[in-house]
Amino acid sequence: MKIGFIGLGQMGSGMASNLVKARHEVTVFNRSADKAKPLVEQGARLAETVGQACAGADAVFTMLADDKAVEAVAFGDAGIIAHLPSAAIHISASTISVALSEKLLAAHQHAGQHFVSAPVFGRPDAAAAAKLFVVAAGPEAALADCQPLFDAIGQRTFILGDKAPAANLVKLSGNFLIASVIESLGEAMALVAKGGVDLTAYLDLLTSTLFAAPVYKTYGGLIAGGKFSPAGFAAPLGQKDIRLALAAAEDLQVPMPVASLLRDRFLTLLANGGANLDWSALGKLAAQDSGQPGPIV
Ligand code: NAP
Repeated sequence: MKIGFIGLGQMGSGMASNLVKARHEVTVFNRSADKAKPLVEQGARLAETVGQACAGADAVFTMLADDKAVEAVAFGDAGIIAHLPSAAIHISASTISVALSEKLLAAHQHAGQHFVSAPVFGRPDAAAAAKLFVVAAGPEAALADCQPLFDAIGQRTFILGDKAPAANLVKLSGNFLIASVIESLGEAMALVAKGGVDLTAYLDLLTSTLFAAPVYKTYGGLIAGGKFSPAGFAAPLGQKDIRLALAAAEDLQVPMPVASLLRDRFLTLLANGGANLDWSALGKLAAQDSGQPGPIV
């Protein structure tokens, strides 16, 4: 297929690369053009504008930081909606708000284009290895057209129906759960470490018994290792996801007291110099609060 790919950050660069490897005709655009170079060397075409990435495309992916970034490339005279051919598909893979997803859906429908939400689970290593989990929602026919693209970037696709914003809501709920695990695991690890227990043995016990899930293995290892830089998923992006989960919860009148607590924990991390760290540094706050050595930053 003829694909535009906008956003070559930690996640987008791996995803675009896998689309090139799967022999799709990929045209890439990134705000900072230097990040496009490795993709061009791999065989992608370079777009100098968002419009060039959309021209003649069957589908255009966006994999951008946040709502502000997606709004900047989607709307306006130079944006995706103005340049994507009618009947083509915008595949939004960024973790964005439910409200923006609804706005994009309406704007694409008005322009005679299709809108599919396809946020992903998996860190940059999973993106590079085409091992993402894709959470997709949108019109049935458009989803069927996108399936070969999802197969190229991920290990499995979960379809959540024909309403694109549902995928964004589910993605935000998932990141809320991951942040909850990071915080609770950090508290448990601070407790046993201060009591003199070896953390490697402790994590082995947890992840070999009742907590044998990837999220405990990945984040337990990251917290115990204490190496939060370079960030695979930066703390400000994690904070953004809790904020967006709370916004969706407010709209739906769903109290989420743990999410409210996580909001404050992220603010503590960011206020203490954590903006360039991986979001797993959240799991070190409890150790720091308990006076244990090894500051986060
Ligand atoms: P990243 O490395 O920080 O990349 C962000 C991308 O957004 C870059 O291409 C950046 O362009 C672009 N961007 C930022 N602000 C922009 C603006 N105002 N206008 C145009 N482009 C803008 O982030 P990432 O880790 O790849 O994450 C991308 C998305 O995937 C986020 O929504 C994140 O929540 C989600 N996600 C991340 C992970 C993860 O583990 N990292 C996992 C799943 C989902 P420049 O290069 O010019 O700065």
